[in-house]
Amino acid sequence: MGEILAIINQKGGCGKTTTAVNLAASLAHLNKGVLVVDMDPQANATTSFGIDKLDLETTIYSAISGQVNVKKAIISTNVPNLFILPSNISLSGIEVELGKIPNHHLVLKKLLEEVKDIFDYIIIDVPPSLGIITINALVASDEVIIPIQAEYYSLEGVADLMNTIKLVEKRLNSPTPIKGFVLTLYDSRTLLGREVYNELKKYFHKKEYIFKSIIPRNIRLAEAPSFGKPCILYDQDSRGSKSYLKLAKEFLELDK
Ligand code: ADP
Ligand code: MG
Repeated sequence: MGEILAIINQKGGCGKTTTAVNLAASLAHLNKGVLVVDMDPQANATTSFGIDKLDLETTIYSAISGQVNVKKAIISTNVPNLFILPSNISLSGIEVELGKIPNHHLVLKKLLEEVKDIFDYIIIDVPPSLGIITINALVASDEVIIPIQAEYYSLEGVADLMNTIKLVEKRLNSPTPIKGFVLTLYDSRTLLGREVYNELKKYFHKKEYIFKSIIPRNIRLAEAPSFGKPCILYDQDSRGSKSYLKLAKEFLELDK
């Protein structure tokens, strides 16, 4: 039975997509069957694999709106063992459309139930908001990973996020445990990164898990999407690539 994970944080630019794509590619590299679900109308995860979002006939939107079976919308990527349910701008109207139907929070969960057995891991990339798409991702997920950018104001939005997670648990009777927090965009040359890490520890009173694998700010991670490749294909020896592989190993270790 596959495990469904959402990479979530309503703050934009904290490394959600980079984490979804590179954690997925690293797990696939470690011989796991992985599906990336791109739930962002901006489709950054889709283009990160060199897939032309303007050229797609079927997307996650086609599956959600019932035009095609979800299995028909899944395509392979340039990484062996790694598949994607791609997105494009057509997904942008989905919040409004879903809002009109009853039990709209269950749509993604039902969709992924059909493919859950085919993969070891399903990783959902979520847009930076706490709207219907994010609620769907939370309800569909077994667990969430929260990337936190190593900067001063990062913890401000975390309380809102935790409240949303609790609200979904209470109102929709759908608990989504936090697998862990990942520190991203860490700059070892500044004290700030270490401070944020320590703040994070204090903030959660050591109750929540913080991944020991920290993701450095690394130019190769930022460049890779423009070459249509996850970092492990673009520059396997880069610090960025190695840090996500380490994260994937730590993740698998926790999962044992
Ligand atoms: P989000 O999905 O949370 O909005 P992204 O993953 O798209 O965030 O990252 C925002 C920007 O920062 C992108 O341009 C991305 O390439 C870059 N980026 C993300 N993580 C790193 C990193 N560890 N090192 C360097 N650049 C990064
Ligand atoms: Mg993103």
